Amino acid sequence: MKKTLYLKFILAYFIFGVFSFIIVTTFVPSMTIEHLVREKAEHLYVEAVRIADTYAAGLYASETDLETVKDQLDSLAFYLDSTIRIINPSGRLVLDTDVSLNVEEEVTIENFDPTATSGSYYMVNDFFGNFDRDMISVFSPITYRYVVKGYVVIHCDMQEIQESCNSLLNISYITLVILFLLSLIILIFFTEMVYIPLRKITYATEQYASGNMHYEFQVESDDEIGYLAACLNYMASQIAGAEDDQKKFVANVSHDFRSPLTSVRGYLEAMIDGTIPPEMHDKYLNIVLNETERLTKLTNSLLSLNNLNTKGMLLDRTDFNINQILRTTAASFEGTCRKKTIVIEMILTGEELYVTADMEKIQQVLYNLLDNAIKFSHHDSVIKVETSVKNNKMFVSVKDSGIGIPKDDLKLIWDRFYKSDLSRGKDKKGTGLGLSIVKEIINCHGENINVISTEGVGSEFIFSLPLSEDEED
Ligand code: ADP
Repeated sequence: MKKTLYLKFILAYFIFGVFSFIIVTTFVPSMTIEHLVREKAEHLYVEAVRIADTYAAGLYASETDLETVKDQLDSLAFYLDSTIRIINPSGRLVLDTDVSLNVEEEVTIENFDPTATSGSYYMVNDFFGNFDRDMISVFSPITYRYVVKGYVVIHCDMQEIQESCNSLLNISYITLVILFLLSLIILIFFTEMVYIPLRKITYATEQYASGNMHYEFQVESDDEIGYLAACLNYMASQIAGAEDDQKKFVANVSHDFRSPLTSVRGYLEAMIDGTIPPEMHDKYLNIVLNETERLTKLTNSLLSLNNLNTKGMLLDRTDFNINQILRTTAASFEGTCRKKTIVIEMILTGEELYVTADMEKIQQVLYNLLDNAIKFSHHDSVIKVETSVKNNKMFVSVKDSGIGIPKDDLKLIWDRFYKSDLSRGKDKKGTGLGLSIVKEIINCHGENINVISTEGVGSEFIFSLPLSEDEED
């Protein structure tokens, strides 16, 4: 068996792992750093606004002197772990918490442009070339008498943000690895619940395909795969059963054909080589004729059974008078009945009783049942044929007081080629196919046939047929 399914699943598993890794190492870091920068900037902006409104405003209103403001901002910068600056709109540095106060030395930030943040309150860069690395710089204007006197700018090193981002990312990577390992559980489930049962099913299918229909296998699960396995097992057992039946059937047919052919051949050879003298020829030719009749009957029965099987439900249903058919079928047995002084008593519902069925096939059913009833009846006895109507159905009963059927045989008489030991003496021409044909025909009509029989007392066969619509109430 090709192991492609398993390989495909493992491949899918690794593709999943690789994609998860790519996503976590590309999108997640940029999103995390963006989030951290924004959060830091928001926090610093609140501080910058506060400084602009209090210490710096006081400075420009000349309420406090530069030194006091510097002291206060130094400690705040230390607390915020950042650099706080007050810058004039022209770019001149008024105060820098990283540098000690020196009024003499004038420091100007080249290209200082407070509008460079383009609508935002912060920017991430080297602050107009003033730093040798990237910084988050937050702006807040200092206004005095509605005029912008300067800006409070707080700088925070991006290095710091990068470090906290890295420690957060490490957590994400560890989580990813744990998730990847945990998803191995899916692989184990897949192996146990899908792959192994599927292998068993495939192996079993290979066995069936190679003709080993008796191969049995077990998949113990209540899910769809378990159901599939059970169905496959059942299908194989049914095919195996059908195969056995077929073998039995062919064996029976061959046996039933061989015995009359052997005796015909034996008699004819004996006549040709003179073992049977010419004056005895008539007697043995009659026996040969009887045997050929038996072969014809057997062939006809086999053909009927075959047609019933292949045509299935294809019945030529018409409305016909069953009472009339019963009378004509019974009449065809007049000669045989006379020989055994058997009387067929007809207890019919009246002149006419219409049913909807395949007339020819029902005729065959009646023929087979009456033929059996006569065959297995004693001399000087009565066979009762009765029709009745119950619950919009018509019932036909064929009852004899013959040899009866042993209790153990009752279920077997419907099987093909079945002949009870009791009947063998009485009926040498029987094929054992009559009742299987009867049952097949009645079942094709969607109806049932039953038998009530007591050994040594007699048998009664009853079957039902649908009444034609005119007969129904
Ligand atoms: P066959 O052509 O040999 O009669 P059937 O299928 O018609 O084959 O019958 C099968 C067996 O059922 C017979 O061999 C006989 O043992 C039993 N059987 C059928 N009908 C009767 C009956 N009316 N009385 C006693 N036995 C019967």
